[in-house]
Amino acid sequence: MIDLDNTLIDRDAGFRTGLVAILADHGLPADHADWIMPFDDRGYAPRPVVAKAMLDRLDLDITEDDLIEALYRGSRENARLAPETAAAIGRARADGHRVVIVTNGPVAGQGEKIRNAGLDRLVDASIASEAVGVDKPEPAIFHAAAAAVGGSLDDAWMIGDRDDADILGAHRLGVPSVWLHLGRDWAPADYRPTHIADSVVDAIEHAAHV
Ligand SMILES: [Mg+2]
Repeated sequence: MIDLDNTLIDRDAGFRTGLVAILADHGLPADHADWIMPFDDRGYAPRPVVAKAMLDRLDLDITEDDLIEALYRGSRENARLAPETAAAIGRARADGHRVVIVTNGPVAGQGEKIRNAGLDRLVDASIASEAVGVDKPEPAIFHAAAAAVGGSLDDAWMIGDRDDADILGAHRLGVPSVWLHLGRDWAPADYRPTHIADSVVDAIEHAAHV
C-alpha cells in the first residue's frame, strides 16, 4: 500500500507548477510562489485559505471560487511520476508484490492525478478515501485496499509521508510501514515507522525485499 501525494508523486512540485501558471496568466512573476507555498501546507490547508491569502495580497482579476478551481486543476494537471519510481513499482510487481495506491481525497480528482502521472497503468488498484467514506488513518481504508487486490493485511506494508495518516494507520493495524522523511525529523513519541526512507524508491525496495 502506498500513498500518492508527496510519496509516489511530488505533489508540491505539481502544485507549484500550476501556481506559477496562474500567476503568469495574471502578469505576475513566478517568485510569488515562494510565499504562497507555506499557506498550502503540502495540500493539507483548506483551499479557501490559500485562495484568500492570494486574493488579499495580489491584484488578481478572478473570483475566489474560480481561483480555488484553478488551484485544484493545477495540481491535477501537473501530477508527474519520476521514471525511477515507475521502475521501482515494476520491480516490486515482477517480484510478485501487489501495489495499491491508498490516498485521502476525492475519487475524481485523485483519479485524474493517477491517470495524468501514468500510474493507472502501473499499479494493481487505487483506493481514494471518498469511495470508502473515511480518510487514513482509519482502518477501513486499509482493509479496502487489501480487499481491492484480494490480499490480506497480514503480509502488507504501508509507505507514505504523513505520520498522522499513513504511519499511524499502519501502526494501529500492526502493519509495518516506511516513512518518507522529505527532510523532516520524526516527531510522534507514541508510535514509529518500521523504517525511514530517503526516497520513494528506497521505500519500495525496503518494503518489497524485507
Ligand atoms: Mg502524502
